[in-house]
This record gives sequence, C-alpha cells and structure tokens, in this order.
Amino acid sequence: MTDSIFTKIINGQIPGKFAYQDEKVVAIHDIAPGAPVHILIIPRDPAIVNANDLTPENADIIAHMFLVAKQLAAENGLTERGYRLVMNNNAESGQSVYHMHLHLLGGRALGWPPG
Ligand code: 5GP
Repeated sequence: MTDSIFTKIINGQIPGKFAYQDEKVVAIHDIAPGAPVHILIIPRDPAIVNANDLTPENADIIAHMFLVAKQLAAENGLTERGYRLVMNNNAESGQSVYHMHLHLLGGRALGWPPG
C-alpha cells in the first residue's frame, strides 16, 4: 500500500512543520489552516485509518492523542478561550487523508454546526 502523506511527513520524505513529537504521535501544522491554530495530531502507526478501525485493543492511542491536543491547546493559549477537536471519518465527513488524525482548531470563534 502507498504511504499516506502523513507517513511521508513523519519519515521526512516531504516537509512538515512539527508542533510536537513523541514515540507514539506527531503533531504538525495543517498546510491549509482553517483557523489561526490548526494542528493535526497523528499516530506514527498508519494502521488505523479512522475511527472505524478502533477496537478495545488499540483505542489507547485516542486518549494519548487527546492529552497531546490538550497540551498543544494550552501552549497556544486556547485553554480558556476554547478550541475544537474533530476527526473526520470517511467520505461524507470530508476525510481526505486516510491515516487517522485529530484536528485541533482554535484562535477564532468557530461556527456550529460545521458545514
Ligand atoms: P481530513 O480532511 O482528512 O480530515 O484532514 C486532512 C488535513 O490534512 C487537511 O486539513 C489538509 O489541509 C491537511 N493536509 C493535506 N496535505 C497536507 C500536507 O502535505 N501537509 C500538511 N501539513 N497538511 C496537509
């Protein structure tokens, strides 16, 4: 299977602006930000494509992704202002990269419901 764009960024094959890295996840600034802060929290392991692939055995990564997102929100001054954490899953949600990722969006008032 072809590597996802995120795997290529993680492997250094194409550039990415990293906001955070550890042994399980990386966080990069979105190339087309939808808000002043738009960071993607991405597991290094590409095996989980989206929430449909989660099981009781592999779901610990979700808690870790949220803890990293919370830390990045704080570092960007969003804790009290507010921010959104969202994951797109398959076509009608608008998922465009099939390597699971959590969007951290903030820095402006965000509309609800989303489009
Ligand atoms: P999705 O639509 O799958 O939920 O989110 C994919 C996100 O990845 C989009 O917001 C898109 O702008 C971002 N993206 C796509 N290609 C690249 C890239 O090469 N670099 C970075 N940093 N973000 C990308």
